[in-house]
Amino acid sequence: MSLSQTLETPSTGKYEQPTGLFINNEWVKGVDGKTFETINPTNEKPIVAVHEATEKDVDIAVSAARKAFEGEWRTLDPQSRGRCLTKLADLIEKHAKTLTAIESLDNGKALSMAAVDVNNAAGCIRYYGGWADKIEGKIIETNSDSFNWTRQEPIGVCGQIIPWNFPLLMWAWKIGPAMACGNCVVLKSAEQTPLSALYMGNLIKEAGFPPGVINIISGFGKIAGAAISAHMDVDKVAFTGSTVVGRQIMKAAAGSNLKKVTLELGGKSPNIVFNDANIDNAISWVNFGIFFNHGQCCCAGSRIYVQEGIYDKFVEKFKERAQNNVVGDPFKEDTFQGPQVSQLQFDRIMGYIDTGKKEGAKVEIGGERHGKEGYFIQPTIFSNVSEDMKIMQEEIFGPVCSIAKFKTEEDAIRVGNTSTYGLASAVHTTNLNTAIRVSNALRAGTVWVNQYNMLHHALPFGGYKESGIGRELGEAALANYSQTKTVSIRLGDALF
Ligand code: ADP
Repeated sequence: MSLSQTLETPSTGKYEQPTGLFINNEWVKGVDGKTFETINPTNEKPIVAVHEATEKDVDIAVSAARKAFEGEWRTLDPQSRGRCLTKLADLIEKHAKTLTAIESLDNGKALSMAAVDVNNAAGCIRYYGGWADKIEGKIIETNSDSFNWTRQEPIGVCGQIIPWNFPLLMWAWKIGPAMACGNCVVLKSAEQTPLSALYMGNLIKEAGFPPGVINIISGFGKIAGAAISAHMDVDKVAFTGSTVVGRQIMKAAAGSNLKKVTLELGGKSPNIVFNDANIDNAISWVNFGIFFNHGQCCCAGSRIYVQEGIYDKFVEKFKERAQNNVVGDPFKEDTFQGPQVSQLQFDRIMGYIDTGKKEGAKVEIGGERHGKEGYFIQPTIFSNVSEDMKIMQEEIFGPVCSIAKFKTEEDAIRVGNTSTYGLASAVHTTNLNTAIRVSNALRAGTVWVNQYNMLHHALPFGGYKESGIGRELGEAALANYSQTKTVSIRLGDALF
């Protein structure tokens, strides 16, 4: 099989899609000669076959990254690293139309939303390009006999394992800070959505990154992903995905070379609406909070708590709003919600909907598949949901939410914090005191006030509790891709 193929999308016409493994700035086949197909979730048909990395290819990619790290990259002046990143951001913008179409084709996300992802990916890479020459150590005074300073040094070879819900954006969140700090990378895309990560290969080369600095492989979690997390020459693994797999990655790191681990995992985020909220604003953000990206967001606001004074009115208006979300072909202009990413996800979500019905929750709207072809699911709202129901406790990762009523602020905080997860949360109120008190009390890495899902590359993002370890984005992410070296000089001739 060749290393690229001409594909066609409704918004771009024909384009050339790389399908090989990108190692050492070259396109290669996997050692075992295996390939796998990526499926179009809109029509359930194969788009193209890509080359599959197995353990042997992970070894080759890690060696390439190690060689690059020990070579010129590590000592390259930081401005030059920054220039590679800003050039890459320019190239993402130049190829935005194609990258947007790839995301809609491979993941099923609405074209308008995919365009936002691509724009944010360019923004994130540019942002970290700006950080590259601002990573500084400190001078630390201890006593008059010594002079001490710290340096922030790169960690080395980083394995990065990304999910399928924001393929290019997660790529950018991982690559940006890793490069700014001077690491080298082997990144594995999700097997459901390998195409945009591969498209980036040629852009990496054009941006001037030396061979081996960024290696991109396609492959399965249990094979290539597991090989990265257990690899003895990978110094750090960064993972975004399910909590179940996050645990396996930590175990693999612990059982191999104790590589550093950062995890961005699941969520079951509370979205709390007080009586005094501007109800139309709150409904619009609650709707966006759960149905954006078809509910396939780790931070989705899937537990909606509404204060009793406005509960009935809220449910009626929210139903009306959600019923107006246009579900359909991601390439159509007015589409808000496309298909779920895969048959497996479709089946999982439909399973949760069945469970909700069996547990006695009330289906306010939705609850069925949408159409006959593709992995489409109707926006689904459950009410009468109690805290012990599975649909209130477990991450569904689809267009399904649960609404419940609360009485007091204390109740809202208590139920908001019941989850084992702690990724995100939101408060809707016009009272500043309530906003501050509740946002301080919620145990989550992000609290949105009168909005939802408003991520920005300058704002740290990550989980409390079982939602993860470490932070992505912002200055905080640099701490996960660098390590502190202390240098201490003895002044004068004092002997010990
Ligand atoms: P989902 O269940 O939503 O598909 P996963 O957490 O399984 O999410 O997948 C996220 C990423 O983790 C993907 O790139 C996948 O290939 C990878 N992955 C899955 N299983 C493992 C594993 N055992 N070790 C390492 N990576 C894995």
